[in-house]
Amino acid sequence: MRIDNQLPGGNVIVQQIDGHNALLKRELRDTAGNWFYWKFRAEFDEPGDYAFTFLEGASIGNRGAAVSVDKGKTWTWGGVSEADKKAETFRHHAATAGEVWFCVCVPYMQSDWDEFMASMPEGTFHCEELCRSRKGRSVELLTWGNGPKAILVTTRHHCQESMATHSLEGMLREVAANPFKYKEYTFYAVPFADKDGVEDGDQGKNRKPHDHARDYGANAIYPEVKAIMALAYRVKPVLLFDMHCPWLRGPTDPGRHHGVFDRFGAGIAREFSASFERRHAVRRIVEHVRELHAGQDDGHVGGRPSMGASRAVDRDSVRESA
Ligand SMILES: [Zn+2]
Repeated sequence: MRIDNQLPGGNVIVQQIDGHNALLKRELRDTAGNWFYWKFRAEFDEPGDYAFTFLEGASIGNRGAAVSVDKGKTWTWGGVSEADKKAETFRHHAATAGEVWFCVCVPYMQSDWDEFMASMPEGTFHCEELCRSRKGRSVELLTWGNGPKAILVTTRHHCQESMATHSLEGMLREVAANPFKYKEYTFYAVPFADKDGVEDGDQGKNRKPHDHARDYGANAIYPEVKAIMALAYRVKPVLLFDMHCPWLRGPTDPGRHHGVFDRFGAGIAREFSASFERRHAVRRIVEHVRELHAGQDDGHVGGRPSMGASRAVDRDSVRESA
């Protein structure tokens, strides 16, 4: 088989390929310390059972690997039965020869956003360019509604926390389907706060000198963060909701893993602390989502919501804050 990172969001180092077995590493790039994102494509010459093992740290999430046989259009979870988290190995049965894409988590890319926008009736959302990324990519700003109260929702300050953007899409579908219910509000959404990191497949988390989520303040270095700050100061949101899902898996709480939307950004919270006078409202949202998913054995929302300055509520939050 052949393995490479030449796909949107690609990230892998091939250490060794021996027949149907591959030894792989993650590309850390400008991330300080270790992190767990990877995404690659494999081309199989023949049908059969293949195994992929990651070196140097935790790499396999609670649902196994995410798998796409149609070049990223649709994804399924490989499942725990095909994963050995102790060995950091996942297996894949290739029914035919050909190309398969694998990722640590179900991705959400520019192409998914474009498809979502194209699927909605024309005029549902107003879309414009928030800014250009450092590499010149267009960064989206979506607006919905014209109520007096602004709500600003952002995802991907940590570029590979893709479940947050799946959740954002769900929110936007909800408001578009029930305009009367949300008539008091104007929604602003920035789906890709680190657009380059998303498409290039960076870890994003703990970038040097600091990552996008820690960039808020007078000396911001990322154009997306500067633009989000300007937007927030202009529209003065009653609720600022920055979604994260920083967990790969957790022994203390199986509900905490990378496959869920989990928590709220700390940096943006410090900058806009006034919005967090409404933190009880944020907590209600989390509680509501938890209720919706109650009884699902793999959990959908992590234990305690963590909100900015109050995030140091337990040891886990300190160790791996959003
Ligand atoms: Zn995060």
